Amino acid sequence: MRKVRSGNAWLGSLFPAVGLLILGLLLSYNQGLERFDRFLYDSLSRHITRPPADNIVIIAIDEESLAKYGQWPWPRHIHGDLIDKLSVGGAKVIGFDIIISETGREGSQDDTLFSEAVARSGRVIMPVFAEWNPGRNRLQVRKPIPAVSAAAAGLGHVDFELDSDGIMRRAFLNAGLGFPEWNAFSLEMLLFAGFPASKPLPGRRNTSLDSASPGNWVRDYEILLPFTGKPGQFKRISYAQFLDPDFDPYVVRDKFVLVGTTASGLSDALPTPVSGESLPMSGVEINANLLDTLENGLAVLPISTAGRLSFTALLLIFPLVAFALFANKTVQIVAGSFLVFIPLTAALLLVKIHIWYPPAAAMLILLLSYPVWVWNRLAQLVRKLFQERDHADITLKSIGDGVITTDASCRVKYMNPAAERLTGYSRREAEGCRLETILRVAEKEEEGEPFAFVRQCIETADIVQQQEEAVFHDKSGRKHIACVTAGPLKDHAGKAMGAVLGISDVTEKNYALEKLTYQATHDFITNLPNRSLLFDRLSQAILRTRRSDKSVAILFLDLDNFKKVNDQLGHSGGDRLLQMVGVRLKKACRSGDTVARLGGDEFVVLLEEVTDLRIAATLAEKFIHILQPPFMLDDHELFLTASIGISVFPKDGTDVDMLMKNADIAMYEVKKSGRNNYLFFSDRMNELIQKRLRLEAELRNALNRAELRLYYQPQIRLSDNRVIGVEALLRWVKDDGRIIPPTLFIPVAEESGLILPLSEWVLQTACGQAKIWQEQINESLRMSINISPRHFREGNLPGQLIKVIRDTGINPENIDLEITEGLIMQDIDRSVTIMRDFKLLGGTVSIDDFGTGYSSLSYLKQFPLDKLKIDKSFIDDIDRNRKDEGLAKTIITMGHGLGLTVAAEGVETRSQLEKLRQLGCDVVQGFYYSQPLPPEALTSLLAKSQFINK
Ligand code: C2E
Ligand code: MG
Ligand code: MG
Repeated sequence: MRKVRSGNAWLGSLFPAVGLLILGLLLSYNQGLERFDRFLYDSLSRHITRPPADNIVIIAIDEESLAKYGQWPWPRHIHGDLIDKLSVGGAKVIGFDIIISETGREGSQDDTLFSEAVARSGRVIMPVFAEWNPGRNRLQVRKPIPAVSAAAAGLGHVDFELDSDGIMRRAFLNAGLGFPEWNAFSLEMLLFAGFPASKPLPGRRNTSLDSASPGNWVRDYEILLPFTGKPGQFKRISYAQFLDPDFDPYVVRDKFVLVGTTASGLSDALPTPVSGESLPMSGVEINANLLDTLENGLAVLPISTAGRLSFTALLLIFPLVAFALFANKTVQIVAGSFLVFIPLTAALLLVKIHIWYPPAAAMLILLLSYPVWVWNRLAQLVRKLFQERDHADITLKSIGDGVITTDASCRVKYMNPAAERLTGYSRREAEGCRLETILRVAEKEEEGEPFAFVRQCIETADIVQQQEEAVFHDKSGRKHIACVTAGPLKDHAGKAMGAVLGISDVTEKNYALEKLTYQATHDFITNLPNRSLLFDRLSQAILRTRRSDKSVAILFLDLDNFKKVNDQLGHSGGDRLLQMVGVRLKKACRSGDTVARLGGDEFVVLLEEVTDLRIAATLAEKFIHILQPPFMLDDHELFLTASIGISVFPKDGTDVDMLMKNADIAMYEVKKSGRNNYLFFSDRMNELIQKRLRLEAELRNALNRAELRLYYQPQIRLSDNRVIGVEALLRWVKDDGRIIPPTLFIPVAEESGLILPLSEWVLQTACGQAKIWQEQINESLRMSINISPRHFREGNLPGQLIKVIRDTGINPENIDLEITEGLIMQDIDRSVTIMRDFKLLGGTVSIDDFGTGYSSLSYLKQFPLDKLKIDKSFIDDIDRNRKDEGLAKTIITMGHGLGLTVAAEGVETRSQLEKLRQLGCDVVQGFYYSQPLPPEALTSLLAKSQFINK
């Protein structure tokens, strides 16, 4: 990364500014731009004019005078006449600006006439000047001839300095040979007229007066001469005209009168800033201007060197520093305005305090400083560019997406590290390569150019996003899936010079998404589609089939007795079994069918485009068949069957829920009717189900509304006809007094789970009642309570018994639990444990409905039983049917053999009773003795006698 200049940057840009300032001071010091300064001065002078003083009059030796008096020089007595008339006229002072330094042509008498006039006047100032004497090879002062010099009121020098460009701008108030002994001609006139001599003279002093050599012309009190305007400003009277006898001499009263030549050819005319070379100004008029200037105190002082340098520095320092340090446009404007400000200042100085400051050096430096500003601005821009490039570089390096830039022909120019990782190529390797080389597109090659969208981006100079995810291989051949966007790299004209590709690698994301989707839609045990995917496919299938005459069938398959297997094998064994079942089911299906697992032991198969319902039936049979061979699990041979319910769209339902529910109903019917079979859903099933559901809802309410009661039926010991116990039997007494028998609602309660709270209530109520009777009637009265299979399996029977015993205070020895054969056979180990625990408390256990189940005698031996209750079906014909009698006899003998009490239920007649007595039955129960009675009725019955003799 290139190092960014920052800290000392401003110092760097200050150097050129300081350099320029020094250059400015140098230029200012040695007046290197004098020409330009003069130009400025002249331009200003031309504009800053003033009206001439009206007390100055020029007597002009003009063409008219020459015409009158003939060729120059004239006899000097004419000049004498002029001086006389001027004196008569009352002129304040007469500056006679004509050289009379040699004897005239008319001879000395003529000269005398002139010198006498001068003497008479007493107010004539005569000129002196320096002249090169080639004979003596030195300068010499030329004064008027001695008589005139003596007669003159004063002598003044008429030396005017011409600048190197030949223009007369300055005057020296004192000048002389070796020493500036002469006042300037106009100053001499002023002094004569009373101009305060005490006042210090204006002008720049000559600092080298002391070292001046005697042969040199020395000047002092330098001033710049501000002119009143172009030549011809001052009041001018023609020489000849003035001498006209008719001309009033008094026009010159109290005036400064300057006499001099103005006629072309005669005049010592000089170019001035106001007149230029084309219209030179006569010496007399220049003297008039000097006179006017001095009289009015308007002399302009050239600024001193020190002043010039300080002022230049002052004017330059602000814009230069601003230019150097700040690169914005405002600074440029502010500093640029100094270009106007500087000459304006010079003009103001000139006009207001009569000081001339030559501004050219400062102006030039200001102009030159513009490149400094530009340079500074450029440097700043470059710094910024570098900075931004560095930032962009870091950004590109740190972002996770790949960035590749190309030229207009799609060749790689740059790749960031992410793109290097993505493609497997280093930046160096990739530079100059075609995009296709480093991003080898894996698919859709046949569809033409893979990077057409990049070209499109370059052609249209617009961002183009690739519509689909691109699949390509990196250098090592690994596959990547990426989203690619191309943006144009434009030149200043907006034309695309290349493209920048943003590549976002979504391979991992896609993979994770796929995995997640798979997990969300598949069962993790069998890898079959789960409920959500099944429902999805089913609803899709319904949509597709809606407009055709075909059907959709779903086969709801529930494994029979899977819970038993699961308990036996443990969960991992159960899971493996489910996997095997899944495999077999899939094998039986077509590839287009969906075999899904809903959860537990439930599978659903979805058949689409069913034209004939027999297809579904055949498949169901195939399932039953394919499940027949035993499943081998760790040397165990396991046999499984399934119950299958089938529902069909649109016949059995038009939506997913309905179809699933009805297939479930059909499956339930199969379960009820013996399992290992299949059934199509029918409306009758539905009716039954509806009825059952209604009953379930009512039963739930019944429990809440206390519509359930317990009736009690006495149990009589045959040896002494004593009531030794009662059996609690549930009754549902409806609002209208109808009594619903338990055979109708207990199965519903079993299925819905309502049996659990119900059973708890029965336990509590029966034991509570038993306690009352024990206290009131017979303390050894036993309470037989029927235990439901589900309550036995799922409820916390031992815990509830303990609670009931504690709550009611009943002696556990008086509780008899009636359990059906089927129930204990379902889970022998658990049954034995519960029974043992209960017996430890002192209770007894009976097998109800004995003979209807398939108890193995060997098992029976293991159970800690107390009593067998022979099922009513054996009792019904006991007195008429020898077989029944035989069976009853066998049971009684066997029971007694096992040390158990044998009871008979459903005894309705005396002959049945007699038979049982004969066979040695211990206890009987039946309508012959008593119907099951509400507690109050039984209380009164028992209160009468505890013996029922019939
Ligand atoms: P179960 O335990 O075998 O009860 C004997 C059934 O035979 C009772 O029918 C009783 O009223 C009836 N019965 C008794 N003597 C005679 C007779 O001489 N002739 C005829 N025809 N019937 C007689 P119920 O009360 O309708 O009960 C039927 C079954 O409902 C019971 O059979 C029992 O399995 C179940 N059950 C009754 N109450 C409960 C209970 O609270 N909990 C549980 N889990 N099941 C109960
Ligand atoms: Mg019973
Ligand atoms: Mg029974």
